Amino acid sequence: MNIDWSFWEWDTFLKDQDVVIIGSGLVGLQAALYLRQARPGFRITVLERGILPLGASTRNAGFACFGSMTELLDDLKTHTEEEIWELVDKRWKGLQKLRALIGDSVMDLDISGGYELFRDQDEESFRECADKIDGFNGRFRQITGLPGIFQIWDHRLPETGFRGIRHLIRNSAEGQVHTGKLVLALFQKAKDAGIQVLNGANVLKLEEEAGKVNIFLENNQRMEARQVLVATNGFAARLFPQLAVVPARNQVLITRELPGLPFHGTFHYDKGYVYFRNVGNRVLLGGGRNMDFETEQTDVLDLTEPIQNNLLRLLREIIIPGQPFEVERWWSGIMGLGPKKKTLIQSLSGRIHVAVRLGGMGVAIGSLVAEEGANLLLKENRGV
Ligand SMILES: Cc1cc2nc3c(=O)[nH]c(=O)nc-3n(C[C@H](O)[C@H](O)[C@H](O)COP(=O)(O)OP(=O)(O)OC[C@H]3O[C@@H](n4cnc5c(N)ncnc54)[C@H](O)[C@@H]3O)c2cc1C
Repeated sequence: MNIDWSFWEWDTFLKDQDVVIIGSGLVGLQAALYLRQARPGFRITVLERGILPLGASTRNAGFACFGSMTELLDDLKTHTEEEIWELVDKRWKGLQKLRALIGDSVMDLDISGGYELFRDQDEESFRECADKIDGFNGRFRQITGLPGIFQIWDHRLPETGFRGIRHLIRNSAEGQVHTGKLVLALFQKAKDAGIQVLNGANVLKLEEEAGKVNIFLENNQRMEARQVLVATNGFAARLFPQLAVVPARNQVLITRELPGLPFHGTFHYDKGYVYFRNVGNRVLLGGGRNMDFETEQTDVLDLTEPIQNNLLRLLREIIIPGQPFEVERWWSGIMGLGPKKKTLIQSLSGRIHVAVRLGGMGVAIGSLVAEEGANLLLKENRGV
C-alpha cells in the first residue's frame, strides 16, 4: 500500500525535523530530553513502531541494580579489572542521574537491597565471593561513597522461605522501581518539553543524502531529518546488520497477590540468568535463557513452553515452595547484547548515529547512554 502524506500532515508534523530518534525506550526518550535541554529550538521527533514501546524498557523487571558479585567475578574472565570498575561506576552514576531526572517517589524507587542466592552446587562460587567481599566493598566504596555494601546475609535466609538455598549475599544499595511509572514519567516529560512521539512508525530503512537523512516507513511513507539517532537496542541489527548487536529474549511472569509473601527485594539466581522480586505481594520472575540460548537469541516477542515450565518449577520448588499461586500474566522482552558488556555508541556516518546494546542493566546505564548518544549529534559540523 502507498499512502502519501497530506500537505497538512507534512506541514504540521513532519517537515524540518532537526533530529529524529528511533525507539521510545529509556535511551530514546532520555536522549530526546537531553537534546531538548541542549538545543531548546530543535524540532525533535521520536519514532516508535509499537503503540507502546515494544522492546525492553516497559517489559523489564525493574531492578535498579549495578553489580552482583558472581556476575562481576564472571565478567572478570572476559574483561579487564579496569573495564569492570568503569562499568560499575557508569551504572552507579547513571542511576543517580535517573533519580535526579525522575524523582524517587514518581517511579516507586525502593532501595530494599539486591540479593544473590547460592545453592549447594554454588558453594565454590560462594566461597570465592566470601573471600573477596572486603576487596569489593573497598572498590564499591570508592565508587558510591557507601561503606560495606556487600554482606553475607545467611542469618536472614530462614525468613525468606526459599528452599534449597544455602547462602545469600546482599547488596544494600540496590533497589527496585515501577518500570511502567518510570517510562510514563519520561513520556510526560517529553510531552512537556515539546518533543513529538509518533507511534506505529516502524522504520524500515535509513538513507543519507546531501544535508539530510531519508527515513523510510511502512506504506512507502517517508520522513526526513538533519540527524538521526538509532536507539533500538536489541533490534539494531535489523536496520544495520553489520552492527555487533545480538537480541536476547527474556520471558517473564507475575503471580497474583500472595498474602504474607515473606521476602522483599530483588534477587539473582543461577549467575543472574534468573531474577525475581516482589511487586507488592506478588512475585515477578524472569529469565532462564541459559536453558536454551539458541532459541532465545531472537527479537520475536514470544513465549516458549520449556522456559515457562522451568520458571514455574523454580517458583514451585525454590521461591515459594508449598504455597499455592496463580500466574496473572506472562510476557517477554528483548535485550541487546554484544561480545563484551560494552554499550555501542557511535556515528555510522555524519548524520546517522547509534546508542544501543545495553545488556541487562538499562535502568542504570540508560541515562548515560542517552547522553553520550545525544552528544554525537551535537558535535560540530553535524549540520544542527
Ligand atoms: C525481560 C527483561 C528484563 C530486564 N530487567 C532489567 C532490570 O531489572 N534492570 C535493568 O536495569 N535492566 C533490565 N533489562 C534491560 C533493560 O530493560 C534494557 O537495557 C533497556 O530497557 C534498554 O532500553 P533501550 O531504550 O535501549 O531499548 P528498548 O527499551 O528495547 O527500546 C527500543 C525501542 O525501539 C523500538 N524499535 C525497534 N525497532 C524499531 C524500528 N525499526 N522502528 C521504530 N521503532 C523501533 C522498540 O519497539 C522499542 O520500543 C531487562 C530486559 C528485559 C528484556
